[in-house]
Amino acid sequence: MPELPEVRTVIKILKSSIVGEIISDVRIFWNTLVKFPTKEDLIKRIINKKITDLKSFGKWIFFMLENDDVLVSHLRMTGMWYFEKQSDQFWNQKHLHAVIDFKNGNRISFYDSRGFGVLNLYTKEEFNLKGPQTRMGPEPWDDNFTFENIKPKIFKSKRAIKSIILDQSVISGIGNIYADEILFASSINPERSGDSLNDNEIKQIIIHSKKILEDAILNGGTTIHSYHPKIGETGGFQDKLKIHLRKGKECLRCGKIVMKIRVGERGTYFCPQCQK
Ligand SMILES: [Zn+2]
Repeated sequence: MPELPEVRTVIKILKSSIVGEIISDVRIFWNTLVKFPTKEDLIKRIINKKITDLKSFGKWIFFMLENDDVLVSHLRMTGMWYFEKQSDQFWNQKHLHAVIDFKNGNRISFYDSRGFGVLNLYTKEEFNLKGPQTRMGPEPWDDNFTFENIKPKIFKSKRAIKSIILDQSVISGIGNIYADEILFASSINPERSGDSLNDNEIKQIIIHSKKILEDAILNGGTTIHSYHPKIGETGGFQDKLKIHLRKGKECLRCGKIVMKIRVGERGTYFCPQCQK
């Protein structure tokens, strides 16, 4: 599943290719991709508009248009936007859900094997009022990602700490892989309830959320192997994972065997010795 560092990598690639370009045509082949407004409205409103910028919040991608409308996309489980040149064949016709063509002949294509991806269009007012960023917690590098703001959300919850840090209304952008890494770095058992954590443990989570996501962004993410073969990048962070996917191997810190359990339906790796 694409996580925040992968989304950042996609944005970096798209940004250098499509900012300043004018949309000439839009084709949508998957009926549940557009939930707001309607598919027909969306197509009509974005044709002939220039893309002025690309932004992200958590795992959402925002295409900013010249008239201040915002095209809002989420990759969900398996979605991916690929930049393609006019002469390129479509990478995977079977999972092709949408194409945005540009006047210069290039295009971006949305491929999604599971089909949970999202593409919505908001006016500036709608975006400010009900864009996804309005119901999400801060990203780990936001000014308001502080101990004072995060502590109540953890400390008042009886849910498992792993489920809390995966909850995008608490912190934006932490996915399954990085949640395991953050809790290992913080020496916290993923099944512990939020209200059992002390101040120092919450501070550890705050420090390591920022550090691990920033490191993953610098390394291009972890799951880039599912990206467009033409991009040809391998997520460098894969080699840096310290706990995730290490079931049955020795813990890099203490040598005990790493275990895999399920926490809130998510496969979860942890060291029973280091993570108390
Ligand atoms: Zn250990």
